[in-house]
Amino acid sequence: YLKLQGIRKRFGDAQVLNGVDLSVAEGELVTLLGPSGCGKSTLLRCIAGLAELDGGSIELERRELTSLPPRSRDVGMVFQSYALFPNLTVSQNVEYGMRMRGMAPAARRSRCRELLAMVDLEDKRDMYPQSLSGGQQQRVALARSLAVQPKLLLLDEPLSALDAKIRKNLRAEIRQIQRRLGMTTLFVTHDQEEALILSDRICIMNQGRIVQEGSPEQLYTAPRTEFAARFMGSYN
Ligand code: ATP
Ligand code: MG
Repeated sequence: YLKLQGIRKRFGDAQVLNGVDLSVAEGELVTLLGPSGCGKSTLLRCIAGLAELDGGSIELERRELTSLPPRSRDVGMVFQSYALFPNLTVSQNVEYGMRMRGMAPAARRSRCRELLAMVDLEDKRDMYPQSLSGGQQQRVALARSLAVQPKLLLLDEPLSALDAKIRKNLRAEIRQIQRRLGMTTLFVTHDQEEALILSDRICIMNQGRIVQEGSPEQLYTAPRTEFAARFMGSYN
């Protein structure tokens, strides 16, 4: 469904992605788990078309994405820090992508209502992002990214800026929505617990490469390298 092959990306002298190969099945939630600076966000940005590759290919449903502009990729993304448009209301934020694609106002509004109901924010539709909590803003961002019915959802540490309790709630909510929609998802985190709970499969990333992948159980009980072991918290 999603197939990454030999993805390379350099910034100046720094080889940030060093030949990433990864396949994700339809409806699967795969987590990229790795330390700060290992290239997780860069990889998502390359898939979304927000950064250019130096080499490799990205195939989504047998369509090569690398030469397509972001808007034509059918990829939705939620960022680490809330990236809502501050001057647009909640519903305007959610409707933004649909408007850009020329969807009719009535259809937009009804889809927006549906999405806000899904993330439990119907009563906030006319509010501006600044008057929402962090968790609420991330739920709007999630609704906005799903509005255009992407084939792939990229979540870049969507929970990292939230405090513990809200993080746990939203974590469960994301999983529930992902399951219900059968949404193919690549989820980035450096939180092992989050990865263990959310994922169908985990890929451990280090220095621009995937160093091990497997089910949460496999990685937790049989990490192949000391790095993976430390990272899964099963090292002592
Ligand atoms: P974190 O967990 O802290 O978010 P990450 O795994 O997402 O880390 P990236 O943001 O992908 O890491 O960054 C990987 C490396 O690439 C870092 O060393 C970073 O400094 C560098 N980098 C990222 N974006 C740029 C850029 N636009 N220009 C130059 N260097 C960059
Ligand atoms: Mg990052």
